[in-house]
Amino acid sequence: GQPMLRVEDLAVRYVTPTGTIDALKGVSFELGREKLGIVGESGSGKSTLGRALLKLIPSSARITAKRLEFMGRDLRGLSEAEMRLVRGRQISMILQDPKFSLNPIMRAGDQILEALTIHGEARGRAGRRRVIDILKAVRIRDPERVYNAYPHELSGGMGQRVMTAMMLVTNPLLLIADEPTSALDVTVRMQVLAIIDDLVTQRGMGLIFISHDLNLVGSFCDRILIMYGGRVVESCRASELQNCTHPYTRGLLQSLPSIEHPREVLPTLKRDPAWLRGA
Ligand code: ATP
Ligand code: MG
Repeated sequence: GQPMLRVEDLAVRYVTPTGTIDALKGVSFELGREKLGIVGESGSGKSTLGRALLKLIPSSARITAKRLEFMGRDLRGLSEAEMRLVRGRQISMILQDPKFSLNPIMRAGDQILEALTIHGEARGRAGRRRVIDILKAVRIRDPERVYNAYPHELSGGMGQRVMTAMMLVTNPLLLIADEPTSALDVTVRMQVLAIIDDLVTQRGMGLIFISHDLNLVGSFCDRILIMYGGRVVESCRASELQNCTHPYTRGLLQSLPSIEHPREVLPTLKRDPAWLRGA
């Protein structure tokens, strides 16, 4: 079918008091209902790319593109008000730092409910039911307790699940997940990842998954973009990762197993994530 997202020659330039930073240059790709991993070292432009797709970058920054289309619609000319309707409802993004994403003085369930009411989807009793349903969908066993909890009362993994629930409750077509790298331990990270992977697959959504970890991304994404210095240096199918020729990609592949993902954990995800689900 038609790709849902079409990006051609995307560039982002940050303007700071001390100079300009070309954080993205000449980025082009298409995305269907598939899982796309974006991998690269710190500062390579991954978060900037995710945010640029939603035009969530500082107003002092400049975004340019020959094409930036979602479901056949040109996002370039949309106003902030129009973009707000795209965000959350059609494209959701889990930000890299969840600390800034959950409101500390609001109950978890009410925050998810707010995501629904902002988009005019459901309120009151029906809204509450949808929140409980989505909490169950992210495998929270005691949704009533989590609904009433404040963010500081939740473990890191639970906080991530609540974030995931909040991002998926409006049934977006595309989820962008900017993975927090150090906040969660390996097992919890893999649990959250398995939940995202399953929901995206069940719902036939598109996923853009941002990570430092090529092996992790290679284990569940369909396709991978390798970024370096604001550019996409290689694009390949995950199944063909071993044939990637760019020296930077080779370097990323050889630096394995990473400390964060010991070898024994990784292959399990693709083969049988069931052991993660029961948790
Ligand atoms: P990490 O893996 O550490 O999250 P990243 O690949 O997500 O890194 P970005 O955050 O996209 O990288 O940053 C790309 C470049 O743009 C870096 O040089 C960064 O310092 C710069 N940058 C990012 N955000 C801003 C901003 N708001 N203002 C100025 N420069 C920025
Ligand atoms: Mg980042």
